Amino acid sequence: MKVGLIGLGNLGGRIARNLLNKGYKLSVYDLDQELLQFFGGLGAIPYESPSALSRNNDYVITVLPNAEIVKSVVLGPDGLLSGFLEGSTLIDMTTSIPGVTKQIGVELSKNGIHMLDAPVSGGVKKAEDGTLAIMAGGDEDVFLGAYSLLNDIGSNVTHVGELGAGHTIKALNNMLCATTLAATAEVLAVGTKLGLNPDKMLEVINTSSGRSHSSEIKFPQQVLSRKFEVGFTIDLMCKDLTIANGIAEGAEVPAFISGAVFQLWQYAKSQGGGEMDHTAIAKFIEGMAGVEIKV
Ligand code: NAD
Repeated sequence: MKVGLIGLGNLGGRIARNLLNKGYKLSVYDLDQELLQFFGGLGAIPYESPSALSRNNDYVITVLPNAEIVKSVVLGPDGLLSGFLEGSTLIDMTTSIPGVTKQIGVELSKNGIHMLDAPVSGGVKKAEDGTLAIMAGGDEDVFLGAYSLLNDIGSNVTHVGELGAGHTIKALNNMLCATTLAATAEVLAVGTKLGLNPDKMLEVINTSSGRSHSSEIKFPQQVLSRKFEVGFTIDLMCKDLTIANGIAEGAEVPAFISGAVFQLWQYAKSQGGGEMDHTAIAKFIEGMAGVEIKV
């Protein structure tokens, strides 16, 4: 299996390291020449264009910022489509827009190229460990053909339906994640302002009905520690919430809570928080509350 990867940023770079550690002869491409050379130094094969990379690999993974960029990297000049040999497979791990994914899939299938949308959850640490959750959409046989590769990238690999289904559930999952993060920060800000100890509050929440991944993992590791290590930015969360709200609108389902949550994240972005880690949403809620959630 010859594998290429495009997009060597926070997430894609970690996935690349994991595949190199597992012995894959990985081909790579990124606009950022320094990153490309860096991964060349780690043993990857750097390519000068998406088409050159796809001509030499039967599986190509994309881990790019957004749907528009994926579209241009696949269908644009010197894009993946112009290099792919018939029977090759594109695996898009970007958090993207299901409608755009389906359009790309149609263009690829006209040329005998398969596509899976296989976005991930779990963050940069799990990407490096190869223990991400992967939610894949696309033809089941294509999924089974790619399974060993997906299983080397993630430890929970689920086929969720047709092409686009992976991107749909990913955006909806992040809608929930953004909501629990913001709601937990609000609750802790109120309690802290009233003199309660955030550590004790989390201890109680995490053995009670208000617990979530945000309260169990993200608050102790990133917020109470005041680390806010950049792995997944507020900009990217805003992108995901835009996608999720668009999906809800397309399904004609009112999404009151998600709409309000989106405004909060947009506020953080408008105040200069875009490049901060998503857990720094707590800082903006602290700012409005006039307290710091720390022990
Ligand atoms: P990033 O901004 O750190 O990395 C993106 C990379 O793509 C950069 O290296 C950039 O140079 C490259 N790039 C941009 N345009 C390009 C082009 N036209 N051709 C080639 N390379 C190009 O972003 P990230 O945090 O790695 O996220 C990537 C995707 O994964 C996003 O869709 C994000 O929503 C999703 N995601 C990220 C995380 C995370 O923890 N960071 C978790 C789950 C999902």
